[in-house]
Amino acid sequence: MIGGQPIFILKEGTKRETGKDAIKNNIEAAIAIAQSVRTSLGPRGMDKMLVDSLGDIVITNDGVTILKEMDVEHPAAKMMVEVSKTQDSFVGDGTTTAVVIAGALLQQAEGLINQNVHPTVISEGYRMAAEEAKKIIDSISKPVKPDDKELLMKMAATSLSSKSASGSKEKLSEISYQAVKAVAEEIDGKLHVDFDNIQIVKKHGGEIEDTQLIYGVIVDKEKVHPGMPNFVKNAKIAVLNAALEIKKPEFDTNIRIDDPSMIQRFLAQEESVLRDMVLKIKQTGANVVITQKGIDDLAQHYLAKEGIYAVRRVKKSDIEKLAKATGAAIASSIDELSPADLGTADLVEQVKIGEDYLTFVTGCKNPKAVSILVRGGTEHVTDEVERSITDSIHVVAAALEDGAYVTGGGSTAAEIAMKLRDYAKSVGGRQQLAIEKFADSLEEIPRALAENAGLDAIDILIKIRSEHAKGHKTYGINVYTGEVEDMEKAGVIEPVRVGKQAIDAATEAAVMILRIDDVIATKASKT
Ligand code: ADP
Repeated sequence: MIGGQPIFILKEGTKRETGKDAIKNNIEAAIAIAQSVRTSLGPRGMDKMLVDSLGDIVITNDGVTILKEMDVEHPAAKMMVEVSKTQDSFVGDGTTTAVVIAGALLQQAEGLINQNVHPTVISEGYRMAAEEAKKIIDSISKPVKPDDKELLMKMAATSLSSKSASGSKEKLSEISYQAVKAVAEEIDGKLHVDFDNIQIVKKHGGEIEDTQLIYGVIVDKEKVHPGMPNFVKNAKIAVLNAALEIKKPEFDTNIRIDDPSMIQRFLAQEESVLRDMVLKIKQTGANVVITQKGIDDLAQHYLAKEGIYAVRRVKKSDIEKLAKATGAAIASSIDELSPADLGTADLVEQVKIGEDYLTFVTGCKNPKAVSILVRGGTEHVTDEVERSITDSIHVVAAALEDGAYVTGGGSTAAEIAMKLRDYAKSVGGRQQLAIEKFADSLEEIPRALAENAGLDAIDILIKIRSEHAKGHKTYGINVYTGEVEDMEKAGVIEPVRVGKQAIDAATEAAVMILRIDDVIATKASKT
């Protein structure tokens, strides 16, 4: 106060928390988020049902989806949601793991703060531990050969085993493997997977087992006219962003007709414009027309008469995929369409899937275009299968790109924890405490896996530790048998990227939250 006058720096109604209060509140909020996904970790984890304000339901086990769907308010909680999103965009899997580790790191940090260890020291220790942990992952990882189908499929299966679609994990891992294999290309001596080349189309009805891989593009539309052929071999495809319709004038127009014969001439003129359009297409040599816009009834009739297969009102993204796959140039006017613009495919055919008809374009000019047709009893099922298969595709791709894997079931986390404890001793000082807490936090993974499987977590952890002390690096908890065993033999393996990225994302979030000692929230302005 100056001269008894208060000075207002912040707007009235601004909420402010500082010092330990701010840190503790943030930690509590972040831990609450981690707790909410913890029970979904692993094959024995539970699913969550999320209901939005409109009553729409999502049932999932996917960490990032759970958090995205939750309408989180608290700023620190929002940062935890970011952890899972980062993990999702970099690896596509391990989203629950990353959040569980971040929560554990913060919980352990809270203990240290209570013992008056400064958050900056904790952050420093955590950062050092994360760097060391990634080195340990590299040192215990094993190589993946690009043609080792069995190994890559095991990784896909591990990622699928925690999802509700796990009953069909053999089929889905085969599809994930084949899809990634088909699109992977070598760039500068390194394998690279472009996910844009893998299209996923969902059709509910049928069973998950009916999910199939198609070497080509699926257009979710049927042919426009029953008189058109059901399939066209050696397809020459005109891919259009143009309508086969008479252009409607932009303004209301009146045409004055005084003589009945003028009506006839007028209609004949319309007919001839449409017929010309079809003839122009025919002259380019096209036997398939796929357009983003509409096709007039009359034009449909002429196309059918010419034996041309046509599809209309196709999504822009599908048009782009189709152009890329078939080598077509998208034409925005029929006048400009030339034979060089046409794309090619061995076969374009109409296929009945459930109650709907779809158009399959297979044997495309560019073989690096594949589609996965996801099937399942209801929309909720196909949605979850799509999420699961997206994860497993990313896992296979990560394994191919990185060329290295480690074992799961908490075995790698336990091995890192053991080695970090030795490392902590070599560091000494106050950071030693933080590094040790980092090690404890990683053990949250086997602990949660065991708890979610209804096992005695402490018992399991002691067993895992004793195996690792004996040099059994790959021993973890197999939740199917309830035993601590060799995860390599159990086939529970994952690409190194999942673990490394989870450690990075979790550490970043924990450190960021720990460094905040002042939360200033302005009152939301009324609109
Ligand atoms: P995330 O979203 O982090 O991928 P998941 O719910 O998919 O989480 O669970 C993945 C975890 O489950 C990984 O730690 C993986 O090693 C583990 N896991 C997979 N299969 C088994 C198994 N048979 N026994 C124990 N753990 C398993």
